[in-house]
Amino acid sequence: MSSRATPAETNIVLIGPPGSGKGTQAADLCRRFGIPTISTGDILRAAVRTGSPLGEHVKTTIATGALVSDDTIVALVRERLSQPDTKPGFILDGFPRTVGQAEALDRMMDNRDLLAVILQVPEDELERRLNARRVCPKCRGIYHTGTRYGSEEEVCSRCNISLIKRDDDNLETIRTRLLTYRNTTEPLIAYYSGKDAAALIDGTRSTEAVNLAIRLEITERLHRR
Ligand code: AMP
Repeated sequence: MSSRATPAETNIVLIGPPGSGKGTQAADLCRRFGIPTISTGDILRAAVRTGSPLGEHVKTTIATGALVSDDTIVALVRERLSQPDTKPGFILDGFPRTVGQAEALDRMMDNRDLLAVILQVPEDELERRLNARRVCPKCRGIYHTGTRYGSEEEVCSRCNISLIKRDDDNLETIRTRLLTYRNTTEPLIAYYSGKDAAALIDGTRSTEAVNLAIRLEITERLHRR
């Protein structure tokens, strides 16, 4: 995009279908770069849990796998990005998901540099991953049953409590979410490619390999100035 960012500013949007590894990668990048992760899905789920007006407003939409309205999501992100901890940069996980949201983000960014990291994984692999996904209700850690992540017993290795399956990780909702991604979010690949701000990453590799590829892109594209 433009060159008004300070070299230290690390503004990332993580885009990818559900199950592509956005949350896992965001957690690692947040630790490494010391910048906050803003997951719109996590914020909305927390609102549903506490029964806030926002939670009441979005709970049916989330349960069916549809998208919350641009107005609601953009207001939420605008408020979060106005907080001082985002000054050195941020990782947006799950936002933008529509071209309208991306345009709104551009306006908020006021021409500062941003890199869209786009994780690509085929749909059959995503269905498999989402069906096997479990989360820790306390630390929000992400696990997959039957993998080396120690979740055979479905207990969080950090918190030692039982993992849960997200309500929207059922086959019917998974298929709706994948369709929504294809129809509504995938056009963002062209949107950011047109601004030379897209890094396409093969998300089928190991977590570590994907992480390395993302960090290389960040160094090359955002930190080289
Ligand atoms: P996620 O945890 O990112 O998979 O998000 C879970 C659900 O929250 C989605 O299926 C949507 O219903 C809603 N959601 C999260 N982020 C957005 C967004 N940027 N725009 C619209 N809806 C969203």
